[in-house]
Amino acid sequence: MQKKLTTTLILVLSFVLLMSGCGSDNQSQNTTQDNATQTETNETEAVSGASQASYTPIDQLKDKYDVIIIGAGGAGMTAALEAKENGMNPVIFEKMAAAGGNTNKSSSGMNASETKFQQEQNIEDSNDLFYKETLKGGKNTNDTDLLRYFVDHSASAIDWLDSKGISLNNLTITGGMSVKRTHRPEDGSAVGQFLVNGLVRNVQEQDIPLFVNADVKEITEKDGKVTGVKVLLNGEEEKTIEASAVIVATGGYGANMELIAEVRPDLKGLVTTNQEGSTGDGIKMIEALGGTTVDMDQIQVHPTVQQEQSYLIGEAVRGEGGILVSSEGKRFTNELDTRDNVTAAINKLPEKSAYIVFDSGVKSRVKAIQQYEEMGFVIQGDSIEALAKEINVPADQLQATLDTWNEAVKNKEDAEFGRTTGMDNDLSTGPFYAIKIAPGIHYTMGGVKINTNTEVLTTDGQPIPGLFAAGEVIGGLHGSNRIGGNSVGDIIVFGYQAGVKAAEYVKAQ
Ligand code: ADP
Repeated sequence: MQKKLTTTLILVLSFVLLMSGCGSDNQSQNTTQDNATQTETNETEAVSGASQASYTPIDQLKDKYDVIIIGAGGAGMTAALEAKENGMNPVIFEKMAAAGGNTNKSSSGMNASETKFQQEQNIEDSNDLFYKETLKGGKNTNDTDLLRYFVDHSASAIDWLDSKGISLNNLTITGGMSVKRTHRPEDGSAVGQFLVNGLVRNVQEQDIPLFVNADVKEITEKDGKVTGVKVLLNGEEEKTIEASAVIVATGGYGANMELIAEVRPDLKGLVTTNQEGSTGDGIKMIEALGGTTVDMDQIQVHPTVQQEQSYLIGEAVRGEGGILVSSEGKRFTNELDTRDNVTAAINKLPEKSAYIVFDSGVKSRVKAIQQYEEMGFVIQGDSIEALAKEINVPADQLQATLDTWNEAVKNKEDAEFGRTTGMDNDLSTGPFYAIKIAPGIHYTMGGVKINTNTEVLTTDGQPIPGLFAAGEVIGGLHGSNRIGGNSVGDIIVFGYQAGVKAAEYVKAQ
């Protein structure tokens, strides 16, 4: 194992050296740069989710496994690790050229309550409060069984990740939450790449085969029981692979514009933050077996997306103190209201876009901002006046907006818009910064119906034997509005459960 890790380390470092000579405007380089920092600080972080060296060569594919996991995002890799832990011989098929899915892009963190990290930092929280606030955020339309299970298992999911060397011990807050329960990496960086790298490393250490360019086309069944999948390898050869259980972890349909236009014609034309593999394949395959769906028209539009590159600007920028201003240089909403409300407020502006404005303090607390800077999104001014000039808003007004805001922070009272969170620090340390944003399609709350055992259900509520699903592919947990930070919690809690329950099922056969 040590030898394998060292070989991978050398390969990744060579790749990093090679890439550091290239242009600076693409995301893969930023991924690589993040990996480079991690390799310097911690050798065990060396395996990159984006490195080809991580994946299993196709000639090692067998005809039969205990459990097949479709999709190598956060839910799929968690499920695979737990299936293995429970004595299974699992395999993961990923249709893209690299693992990670939308998980790789997630920024804010992972929401969880009553965790050891909250306790260590004297943050008072309860599962009941987490439940209540998520239900309120979802407008009381969440599947309450799934939600109860989710909050009650969120702390153990944080512990499970910690036991795998994936520690999320830096706490922040996202829209709709009243306490700091969004767990992120120690240095405050985006959670996605850190999580994916950590999961890939564990999958590799456990010798779980992970095949990329392996596009699952169909889930096979006999007499109502799942028997395996048909998978297209490298776009050339289709193979039928047998298994007693299949876990569908194919993510959402946020990149399937046809399906979105069908279920939500009003969202036509918006940009999407989704990776191109998020096309809802799992939903179609499950429907073909009689599985049912819920909330398919519930699609989350994220309020803060950089439009030219469809890149999400994480809620942590606002959670750590950033404000939103219009082209008039004025605030216009509680920036940490739920995503649907902030989106609606931006859409009411004549320009239908806004600037996130922040200072050097926010920049130092949110590591992801460095990445936004490398991608060319961040506009800088040494003073507020200089920034106002750069973004073409009235300087007097921007100054007045910041003065009023800093006064609100000092008095812990936002008389204008009633914001109560993300007010630990004011915006007074230059240089000052702005990022232009507008809403974009981000997350699909709808999906297949499961129970708390992650069993996929038919229209009459019966489990389909041997068929499990977890992650963004499922519907109901988030209701009509997902809270930022809840999807990472979702994929770990239910990915874990899918691994355990699929193993139990296989053993009972
Ligand atoms: P989650 O957050 O639920 O884990 P992600 O989007 O992170 O979801 O990961 C889902 C993964 O599943 C993506 O990497 C996606 O490319 C992959 N995927 C989607 N459809 C298929 C398919 N038909 N076969 C194999 N992999 C798939």
